[in-house]
Amino acid sequence: ERVPIARALVSVYDKTGLLELASALVEAGVEILSTGSTAATIAAAGLPVTPVEEVTGFPECLEGRVKTLHPHVHAGILADRRKPDHLAQIESLGVAPVDLVVVNLYPFTSTVASGAPFDACVEQIDIGGPAMVRAAAKNHPGVAVLTDPQDYDELPAALAEGGFTLAQRRRLAARAYAHTAAYDAAVATWFAQQVEEEAAEDPSAPSALPAYVGAGYERLAALRYGENPHQRAAVYTLLGASGGVAGARQLHGKAMSFNNYTDTDAALRAAYDHGQTVAVAVVKHANPCGIAVSPAGDVAEAHRRAHACDPVSAYGGVIATNATVTAAMARQIAPVFTEVVAAPAFDAEAVEILSAKKNLRLLLVEPPSVEGYEIKPVSGGAVIQEKDAFQAGDADPASWTRVAGPAADPDTLADLAFAWRAVRSVRSNAILLASEGATVGVGMGQVNRVDSCRLAVERANTLGARETGDAAGTAERGAVGGAAAAEVLSDSAPERARGAVAASDAFFPFADGLQVLIDAGVRAVVQPGGSIRDEEVIAAAQAAGVTMYLTGSRHFAH
Ligand code: 5GP
Repeated sequence: ERVPIARALVSVYDKTGLLELASALVEAGVEILSTGSTAATIAAAGLPVTPVEEVTGFPECLEGRVKTLHPHVHAGILADRRKPDHLAQIESLGVAPVDLVVVNLYPFTSTVASGAPFDACVEQIDIGGPAMVRAAAKNHPGVAVLTDPQDYDELPAALAEGGFTLAQRRRLAARAYAHTAAYDAAVATWFAQQVEEEAAEDPSAPSALPAYVGAGYERLAALRYGENPHQRAAVYTLLGASGGVAGARQLHGKAMSFNNYTDTDAALRAAYDHGQTVAVAVVKHANPCGIAVSPAGDVAEAHRRAHACDPVSAYGGVIATNATVTAAMARQIAPVFTEVVAAPAFDAEAVEILSAKKNLRLLLVEPPSVEGYEIKPVSGGAVIQEKDAFQAGDADPASWTRVAGPAADPDTLADLAFAWRAVRSVRSNAILLASEGATVGVGMGQVNRVDSCRLAVERANTLGARETGDAAGTAERGAVGGAAAAEVLSDSAPERARGAVAASDAFFPFADGLQVLIDAGVRAVVQPGGSIRDEEVIAAAQAAGVTMYLTGSRHFAH
């Protein structure tokens, strides 16, 4: 089942490992056919090489657009060795079979990423390369195809043993098709984006998502299992995308699990929703246990306060920040069992402290992109949407409308703005209570809003107390910051809802949920508005002297 290699066609844009590959071929007595600069590189090293023009009798032309697109090349690659008829035909046509194709393609994605103009990007769409790769992969019963310099290592052994095995050729063919498919998906994605941008200038153009979205993922690594141990899983990167969880660099710890990826993603989204202000989010099961900002830029303080929101749930959580993890923050994290810490940077001392924890994963991330799409599978297909973004300044209190109570003073307004940004990270129905730039009670995932209100209040008034109140629980679950945490919780927190502000991710359909917040002592509320019972809801706020702002847009996250 090994097919001996007598002739190889080598045409590579990326010249990595080319000379080692060519030497190995020459040493094994293989004839090398090659194109323009690939042939020149091989010849310059003093190795024998046949220019492909000699085979085709046709010059490379049109600035390289036509090099190998010729029946002499393609019949040589595609002739099926198992069919005497094919062999007879190529022989009578004077075509010699090609046994190995080594091709890597024009660098389309990096050209796009460099910001090159449209025509320059189009010029980098490889035509002849994919044709050869696909032809060789199709004819894998007789031909081997290498599309990645990392696979060149396998060649010397194959040459020594009389060629690649059928199993190897099949595996290489599968990789080759994945390579050209990913390449075409990248071209299709980019092209459709260009067309979309042009269409955006035309107000009558449909706003539906283009069909290409959803293509173009490349498998990065297999995961041990999925959400549960009996589910197989892998992690994928989106072609041409960078940053975020999938593209992160792991500095320490065991391999990331499926749930680590999704929780870290949720934590990063929460941490990166506060502009330039230093923010920390602690997440469990895709919901925040706590989020806090530090306008003074003290990441350790933000972490302490995020943790203090719900120290019970922070056990086994994921921590993300948009700032550098300092040694002070690392010391606070160390005693608390934590799955992942994700950040754009770590101080060396912080890495040292956290690396002592063998079950903790440290992830270095570039900020996740706020653009792009989210895919949710539905049986038989998927629904795809643009990522949620703040609408026309709805993150800015200046764009809100006050409908009840006195105008908020600057501190209260800042808390409302924080709560409004933070509530987007909570799974609907979401009610979030905040005080001084930190969450104090989060009600999430309920199927009616009044239950979310009750949950937010109950959690505000019990969870913070547990850390300070129960010494055993504190030690077991890990208090953060010792004296500093006690200071944060100095009012020992049984009544953290009192005097807090609240944000609701969507409108209050009735006044009942709001009434729960009012009864708990919440003094200002921000919500989208837009319910047919807005009047009733606003009247309840008005009657209680509670300030209420409407933002005009909602932020469900299910
Ligand atoms: P070289 O650097 O050898 O001049 O060109 C190598 C590159 O050309 C490879 O990336 C290969 O995929 C691409 N290529 C080979 N044949 C053709 C062809 O006929 N047309 C185009 N557009 N590209 C080709």
